[in-house]
Amino acid sequence: MTIQENVPLAPLTTLQVGGAARYFATARRDDEVREAVEFAKIRSLPLFVLGGGSNLLVADSGWPGVVLKIAIGGTVGPGLQNTTGNQALFTVGAGVNWDDFVAAAVSENCAGIECLSGIPGSVGGTPVQNVGAYGQEVAETIESVRALDTKQDCVVTLGKPACGFRYRSSVFNRERGSGGGGERGRYIILQVNYRLRRGGPPSVKYADLQKHFAQTDTAPSLVAVREAVRQIRRCKGMLIVPGDEDARSAGSFFKNPVLNREQFHALKARAASRSLEIPHYPALDAQHKVSAAWLVEHSGFTKGLRLGRAGISSKHALALINPGDAHASDIVKLKDAIQQGVQDAWGIRLEPEPVLVGF
Ligand SMILES: Cc1cc2nc3c(=O)[nH]c(=O)nc-3n(C[C@H](O)[C@H](O)[C@H](O)COP(=O)(O)OP(=O)(O)OC[C@H]3O[C@@H](n4cnc5c(N)ncnc54)[C@H](O)[C@@H]3O)c2cc1C
Repeated sequence: MTIQENVPLAPLTTLQVGGAARYFATARRDDEVREAVEFAKIRSLPLFVLGGGSNLLVADSGWPGVVLKIAIGGTVGPGLQNTTGNQALFTVGAGVNWDDFVAAAVSENCAGIECLSGIPGSVGGTPVQNVGAYGQEVAETIESVRALDTKQDCVVTLGKPACGFRYRSSVFNRERGSGGGGERGRYIILQVNYRLRRGGPPSVKYADLQKHFAQTDTAPSLVAVREAVRQIRRCKGMLIVPGDEDARSAGSFFKNPVLNREQFHALKARAASRSLEIPHYPALDAQHKVSAAWLVEHSGFTKGLRLGRAGISSKHALALINPGDAHASDIVKLKDAIQQGVQDAWGIRLEPEPVLVGF
């Protein structure tokens, strides 16, 4: 395996900001992953695992250690299970492009991930923050994850319970000691096994999708739902379209805050005092998930706003963008200003969704 030096990381991320990796390697097989881990270990260098670079903000100073790009390919499936044959198992290499896999599953008439169409990045990136959109989360269909355990130096298969999936989090991205069994940095995902439903109906739970199909008499097909999701995402700048500066982002920059009953009622009262109603959805354990986009917009940060060389997408208040010549420091300034603004206006600290690398 070739190990390169001083490789610029900006072109390998969707935000296209940040410095270089001191060392850079691409792994197409399990043994190359091990080799890169060994290279970093021997030199006591920090290792960063790179997928499609769609959920990252890389510091202008870059990464002082080894960046390992996962390029393990291969999709095996559908392997049909159970007597009626409607359970379809897919084993997919971590380096496979996620949306290519969704397209393949939909064309095999397999349901379960159609609403996750158009999310950029790799298959290996999907369990990390339990990607979700339009009423589906990848945790609903992940059967198990095959990974290199860098602590025990062996390949393990983690069943779904061991992945500890929650809203935008899993064992793979939660810090150790943060509660809920975080093991951030321990596992390098090699393959993901998905269990889909062959011939199953598409999910049309989300309001935007229901609106899209409101005039249609017949039930939409999986293909139609995939196309609708991609179309809606395109309108929101959430589909990577060449030339669309609004897509030069890391997607939603902040997570939707999940509030307990008291916090939620305090926020609702605050909004009511301004004759406003905050969009919210039920979350686990009688909690409430509130719209981060609404909080951002109602704190004075509107779509299309520019702060220095960074900006907010003209199509979605939650997407921080690099309009062209932004540096990571510009994105950070805008992030800080939004966090402070929302804190001052609503008493809520927004948590960034992308991974901050090298800060
Ligand atoms: C336009 C746009 C729209 C988006 N829309 C959505 C959305 O609707 N829903 C959503 O949930 N997300 C969304 N995202 C965020 C992003 O696409 C997902 O989080 C995606 O799954 C990240 O995958 P990646 O391969 O690009 O990971 P990267 O950005 O390369 O890495 C993200 C994290 O995962 C880790 N990682 C990546 N691969 C591996 C691996 N093989 N093993 C171990 N760790 C790994 C990295 O170390 C890093 O910590 C969007 C992003 C953009 C730019």
